[in-house]
Amino acid sequence: MLKTLFSIGLWALLGWLCGTWLGPNTGWGLFAFGLTAMILVSGLQLSRISKWVKNIDAPPPPSVGPWDEVLAPIYRKLRKNRQDIDLLNKNVNGIMLAAEALPDGAITLNAAMQLTWCNQTASEHIGLNLETDRGHSIFNILRAPEFARYARQRTWPSPVLLHVQNDDRAISLLVQLTPYSLDQFLIVTRDVTQVEKLETTRQDFIANVSHELRTPLTVLSGFLETLHDMPAGSLSPEQESRYLELMLEQAHLMQAIVADLLTLSTLESSPAASGTTVNMADLICTALTQGRVLSGGQHVFIENINQDLCITGMESELASAVSNLLTNAIRYTPKDGIITVSWYLTENGNACYSVQDTGIGIASQDIPRLTERFYRVDRGRSRATGGTGLGLAITKHVAMHHNAELTIQSRYGAGSLFSIIFPASRTVSQ
Ligand code: ADP
Repeated sequence: MLKTLFSIGLWALLGWLCGTWLGPNTGWGLFAFGLTAMILVSGLQLSRISKWVKNIDAPPPPSVGPWDEVLAPIYRKLRKNRQDIDLLNKNVNGIMLAAEALPDGAITLNAAMQLTWCNQTASEHIGLNLETDRGHSIFNILRAPEFARYARQRTWPSPVLLHVQNDDRAISLLVQLTPYSLDQFLIVTRDVTQVEKLETTRQDFIANVSHELRTPLTVLSGFLETLHDMPAGSLSPEQESRYLELMLEQAHLMQAIVADLLTLSTLESSPAASGTTVNMADLICTALTQGRVLSGGQHVFIENINQDLCITGMESELASAVSNLLTNAIRYTPKDGIITVSWYLTENGNACYSVQDTGIGIASQDIPRLTERFYRVDRGRSRATGGTGLGLAITKHVAMHHNAELTIQSRYGAGSLFSIIFPASRTVSQ
């Protein structure tokens, strides 16, 4: 403003000086010329400013006279605001990325319980599509009646468990509703399918163990009660020894179950074995010696063993797997059956331990379940031969510990072939 007044004053002074020298008309003319020039310059500056306004992100034009003082603070403020907005955007983006990375699903709803936002995990849990479902009521999206009942409560102190069907997959979801801000709601979803499965497995396992131990325990206590209630000396020595034999049998069965359970739990809690070089031929020969005793000369054994092939692993685990497959073959093969035990290098460099028998075989529908704990095709036969129903579960774990694969081929009534195939990386040739 001062500058403008000073310029007008300067032109007025020049006009007056010129007027006293060349006459008043020339003086007024010069003054008018000065004012016109000032207006033109000012118009030019305004047009540069209006151009800048259209591209306000760029610095303001330089030398725009009195406008310099106005534009500089505006531009400074604009720049500061822009930096604040950038920072805010960065923070919001960070929060959104964190919300997307959450292992739990997150869904936000407005006061009318309509979907406003959800993360990727929630989309997967409930089968949501944010683009098409935004603005729709959550009751139309999540149609489980338990959820409707839960959402209509006044408070939500604990989550609700929902079983939903998503892409032909049944999943169990723990859903927690929480109010936030003013009439906004947050739904957190957690996939607990695996946890539920584990819990069921745990309960089944406890039930199975109790059941398995209860049978021999009932037999044992039955005999003990009979002996206790009988007057002394009323049993013949043969009867007494028969009773004791049967009791011992049951006690051994319980011992075997507990020992197998401990082996399984050790296998499950220990990491995969790297181990040392194990001479498998020696292990197999030891198992065969014990197997022949168990067979009592009732079976024909064929051996096909590569004496130079060793593997790296845990000797005690491998010994148990080797003997499990062999004793099964003996127990499930009738008299005069043939049992072929092989240990060899396959064409692709893997090492294979296999036990083939001409025994009772297994129906195809039972094969996938054989490695489940306590699964037996014929409960009676397994018990009668001292089986615990845990042998193949242990063998499968041993195989897994050695990055090996347990394969089962069998035909009902024709015999079975059980193999453990160790990867080439574990083989050692002597
Ligand atoms: P078990 O102690 O009952 O033998 P396993 O886990 O070793 O337990 O085996 C599970 C079931 O698999 C057995 O009960 C039996 O029905 C079946 N099975 C295992 N090996 C053989 C085999 N060589 N021939 C036929 N059936 C077998």
